[in-house]
Amino acid sequence: MNYNKKTVTDIDVKGKKVLLRCDFNVPMAKDGSGKITDDKRIRAALPTIQYLLEQGAAVIACSHMGKPKGEWKPELSLAPVAQRLSELLGQEVIMAKDIIGEDAKAKAAALQPGQIMLLENLRYDKGETKNDPAFAKALADLAGADGVYVSDAFGTVHRAHASTAGVAAYLPAVSGFLIQKELEIIGGALANPKRPLVAILGGAKVSSKIGVINNLLEIADTIIIGGGMSYTFSAAAGGKVGTSLLEADWEEYANEMVKKAADKGVKLLLPVDTVCAKEFAADAESMVVPAGQIPDDMMGLDIGPETVKLYCDAVADAGTVIWNGPMGVFEFPRFAKGTEAVAEALSKTDAITIIGGGDSAAAVQQLGYADKMTHISTGGGASLEFMEGKELPGVAALLDK
Ligand code: ADP
Ligand code: MG
Repeated sequence: MNYNKKTVTDIDVKGKKVLLRCDFNVPMAKDGSGKITDDKRIRAALPTIQYLLEQGAAVIACSHMGKPKGEWKPELSLAPVAQRLSELLGQEVIMAKDIIGEDAKAKAAALQPGQIMLLENLRYDKGETKNDPAFAKALADLAGADGVYVSDAFGTVHRAHASTAGVAAYLPAVSGFLIQKELEIIGGALANPKRPLVAILGGAKVSSKIGVINNLLEIADTIIIGGGMSYTFSAAAGGKVGTSLLEADWEEYANEMVKKAADKGVKLLLPVDTVCAKEFAADAESMVVPAGQIPDDMMGLDIGPETVKLYCDAVADAGTVIWNGPMGVFEFPRFAKGTEAVAEALSKTDAITIIGGGDSAAAVQQLGYADKMTHISTGGGASLEFMEGKELPGVAALLDK
């Protein structure tokens, strides 16, 4: 896949209307008060929005929120986003009452250079997720004959939806700064990594990471396996994993991956010890046992101290580290030590450090290492599919450089 895509600085937007796909899918208070509990995604969109407004474009912003599935659910209105965005920008954000209806059309037609408006939740219309060409064309028409489409919602580029891919059939399509950074850093690490490239893979399940393991085995010099998925590897090698997370159906696959690594000369590291407990609980009493020797009534919840040393050594002289999936149940402080140690080791290397995956990003943030990483991807599912080497429809739709 070609990651070398045109971005906002490669085209002229002066005096034009820009349809800007943002990721304003922000968490809202559950009490129906319309309060945004975390405005990080709105803040993240500011550089692209400000650039476009400064260049003299008229910005028609759009986003989805939640999963209304074509129903007009008032609690999923983007009106609170318009208000917050307006506070952050220090200028009015005109809120449309609909998406492609009379109100949005009238407001888009009247929009002047330097002004910004926001459409209602794209997923109020079933055409969005169906990538209905008529809906995509209606969105494009809001920007008019010399309109431009800018995509800056990395979290949805793995979906071929009307606003992420379909609309590019009707307007010249380029990326915003957020997507540009994702493509440069993750795309760069996959296509032409600074070596050695170390991939750290963890999280709950092998089955959700098969594509990632398989693809990174083609590219990486070292692969490190931790988290819940490591017990399937352990069991496949004849180890005892007690009541740990185990996907028996994937044992054969795990063995194939071990063999593939050996054939390709990729170093594959598996845990040598495990922190285990009798129950899945924050205050569960724990003990450390050698990998593959977990007592029948216990489960592995974190990598052990010897494994931590092994893994931290392996990243110390890396050129690039891609990390996807926590090393243990980091949500429980008692079982967050492995994840924290790896995060700390990454914070100390000179390597390019890339964090992909929703829970991994949350773990790094929660543990306080976010600003020490080169890049934390803004898209959980999208970054996974990127690392799987899959074509991302919302990226493929953009103009090549
Ligand atoms: P990401 O979202 O970064 O791709 P995943 O969704 O694959 O990561 O996995 C994250 C989850 O894996 C976390 O909720 C974590 O608690 C869980 N996990 C990690 N290690 C274990 C383990 N040993 N047993 C059970 N769950 C685990
Ligand atoms: Mg996850």
